[in-house]
Amino acid sequence: MENTDLARLSITEASQKLAAKEISAVELARACLANIEKKDTSLHAYLEVFADIEEQAVVADEHRAVGERHPLLGIPLALKDNILIEGRRAGAASKILEGYIATYDATIIKKLKEAGAVFMGRTNMDEFAHGSSTENSAYGPTKNPHDIERVPGGSSGGSAAAVAADMAFGALGTDTGGSIREPASFCGIVGLKPTYGAVSRFGLIAMGSSLDQAGPLAKTVADAELLFGAIRGKDPLDSTSIDFQGSTLDKSSQGQTFKKIGVPWELFKTGVDKEVLESFSAALKKASAAGWEVVDIALSSAGLALAVYYIVMPAEVSSNLARFDGVRYGLSRKGATLWEDYAKTRGDGFGVEARRRIILGTYVLSSGYYDAYYGKATAARAQLTREVAGVLKSVDAIAMPTTPTPASHLGEKTADPISMYLLDIFTVTANLTGNPAISVPMGTVAREGKNLPAGIQFISAHGDENTLFELGKAVE
Ligand code: GLN
Repeated sequence: MENTDLARLSITEASQKLAAKEISAVELARACLANIEKKDTSLHAYLEVFADIEEQAVVADEHRAVGERHPLLGIPLALKDNILIEGRRAGAASKILEGYIATYDATIIKKLKEAGAVFMGRTNMDEFAHGSSTENSAYGPTKNPHDIERVPGGSSGGSAAAVAADMAFGALGTDTGGSIREPASFCGIVGLKPTYGAVSRFGLIAMGSSLDQAGPLAKTVADAELLFGAIRGKDPLDSTSIDFQGSTLDKSSQGQTFKKIGVPWELFKTGVDKEVLESFSAALKKASAAGWEVVDIALSSAGLALAVYYIVMPAEVSSNLARFDGVRYGLSRKGATLWEDYAKTRGDGFGVEARRRIILGTYVLSSGYYDAYYGKATAARAQLTREVAGVLKSVDAIAMPTTPTPASHLGEKTADPISMYLLDIFTVTANLTGNPAISVPMGTVAREGKNLPAGIQFISAHGDENTLFELGKAVE
């Protein structure tokens, strides 16, 4: 095999070849590095490619030689820049974290280290994960491997582009309102947002703590399943984490399936691209052919989801970003008083979108407006959660297109934040309700001579990722 052909393998395939001793971890790492060299100057998926990749791969090969056999042993993975790895830079693509070195491993990193994965580097993202295009990065945008004039989606756009361009076999991202699923959809790969609590948040740079989940971006559903299996589980360091595996919530393993998919057609009446809907219908046909019944459902509060998200999320962002004060982490500017230190550091360190969200968040939480905005949003969120849970009592999953349109041109939506926020219309629901959701490629849409990928999203009951994998395999 040609060096870079190796990088096209899925994790599952590469892992089998490693186990059969047909290839080595060093060869896999070199194949990804060759692609990085070839493509990343134009794509800019990585903020940093680690200098010790080959050493890590050599260690993985040594471990295999003495009998270790985890399926991720020696597999090159890319990591979003908001996941802490002890002794390495972590910056959430923000100037305010310039020079910050993580002092401990995130729990998911610890788990991947134990599995023996090879870490390729830190991937680009929207600053603090605020965005849907990776254009809010303080270090410049990432480009979509399918058309470099277009965005890769965001905020985990670097991770998605790295996987789609074979510069890593898989990647981790985080998803607060769609940031794993949306770039997966735009880049033609699989992205999973696990159930809230299924994966530890310890060691992630927080965006919206009641919404954030880390999860895999991968070339196939089986790979996403494998990565999820490696990072999931209760963590004593994250009190919101839960072990769903084998629990009563894991309904597919208990044989309680209906073999039904619910589709809220009403929600797609306006604003959804015609060709995206055609691909969506075609993907549903595949699911039917695999034995799933497709039924109409109503999801009336889903129409509120975006408005609710853009109140709850900035409220939590404003609170989470308060810790960046020039004293504890990264950038530190000096003024005449401590107050001025804060103002200068935060003024210089945060980009426009982070500042917008801090202002919005403090506004909706302020005493005169709390009841009108945050209080109402919280009530609507509870209603949405009840409605989704109710629907999932008679269907196994809810299906929607992941995004209403394929990837936009670079710069197309940056001047109008609301148009950017609208891309999240179908993804935010699962974050507000905590349900797991997956995006799986469902074909392409032709635009200006390029074939742009689009994804289908499935949402299932809490703890029931298995249904998502089963459905994902049926349509991919
Ligand atoms: N695009 C959404 C936002 O801008 C979601 C981001 C995310 O999931 N991190 O908030």
